[in-house]
Amino acid sequence: MGIHPRDGVSRKSRRTTLAGLLAVAVLGAQPYDLVLQGGHVIDPKNQIDGVRDVAIAGGKIARIAERIPASEARQRINVQGLYVTPGLIDMHVHVYLITGQKGLVGEVSVLPDAFSFRSGVTTMVDAGTAGWRNFGDFRQRIIDRARTRVLAFLNIGGVGMSSEGENDVRDMDPEQAARTARAHRDVIVGFKVAHYDKDEWPDVDNALAAGRATGLPVMVDFGWTGQQRTLETLLTGKLRPGDIYTHCYSGHRAELLADNRLNPAMWEGRKRGILFDVGHGAASFYWNIAVPAVEQGFYPDVISTDLHGGSMNAGMKDMLNVMSKMLALGIPLADVIRMSTWAPAQAIRRPELGHLDPGAVADVAVLRLERGSFGFLDAAGARHPGDRRLVAELTIRGGSIVWDLNGLAAADWKTFPYRPRQRPK
Ligand SMILES: [Zn+2]
Repeated sequence: MGIHPRDGVSRKSRRTTLAGLLAVAVLGAQPYDLVLQGGHVIDPKNQIDGVRDVAIAGGKIARIAERIPASEARQRINVQGLYVTPGLIDMHVHVYLITGQKGLVGEVSVLPDAFSFRSGVTTMVDAGTAGWRNFGDFRQRIIDRARTRVLAFLNIGGVGMSSEGENDVRDMDPEQAARTARAHRDVIVGFKVAHYDKDEWPDVDNALAAGRATGLPVMVDFGWTGQQRTLETLLTGKLRPGDIYTHCYSGHRAELLADNRLNPAMWEGRKRGILFDVGHGAASFYWNIAVPAVEQGFYPDVISTDLHGGSMNAGMKDMLNVMSKMLALGIPLADVIRMSTWAPAQAIRRPELGHLDPGAVADVAVLRLERGSFGFLDAAGARHPGDRRLVAELTIRGGSIVWDLNGLAAADWKTFPYRPRQRPK
């Protein structure tokens, strides 16, 4: 019988009782806190794609092997028939939730924990909702309080995403942005530009200056194109290898030409090492762009949602829905997992994340691949059929079970050690 995680007793109090001493003696024979048994592990970094047991101890991945004896773990969970992957990394979300401040995109942000674990996500990367002027507030009120690991691209506009701020050139200060990124180097992973609407480059140029000063990548939502501000110049002249082009299947910036051929600038950018991110959102993923692009072999480097209030209940829905769409496009499952784990970890230069190395933090997703007749909507509301859908059965964050759809880790209620109920006075 497993020990229910919610009933976990702290090490300190355990030592204070006789029962605790016995427990410690037993734990000595059981080096692992938890073993996931018999699941199909897909760990792209380590090129594992087969049935393995996964042992977790002290919040870290302890061991992956074809068979780990059940007697070596305090808790065992049978995950046969399910996929076991590194915890998913959603590299493009908006989680700086503020209500009652009109014009700030915080108004349409969501709380990270409300969406992450239920779709297998253990790390979210906010894409520029805050800038250097309000990053401290974002950190204090959201990042430091979430159970989800929240990282961020810092907007080059001082107040982040707002109806005015992203076009206010005077408030695009690369030095302040770089200073803020250094002060919060544990959570800021790069810079973001978005929605700039004139035929010039101050947004991109200032973000690149901040990127050069800190050695961090820049993520670009290209906003509007113009005579000078073309996709070709961005991808072949401006961005550096490792910079990120998000909304790659939006079609808003001539990613696909009129004859349905992929813009050669996209291939050229890929050759130069620029990374292409899905960033689905409410208006940035269309089947009539994605299908021909993928048919021509242009897969995304990274899968992400662009989660916010406007996308959460529309075609996007959540990370696993976007990943299922990639399956519907014909991208193999192992690639879809790589694009949602190890690929984003590398893109944000956090090589300690996105894999199941022994010693890595135990962020794990246990996914069910459902088969049936499904439909997937794009941002226009058009449907694409699919026969597979990914669902999160179990999500583990730092060794703790934070999502358990069907109670795989739980004891049956008939044998559950309920505490005696207090009689109401
Ligand atoms: Zn976005």
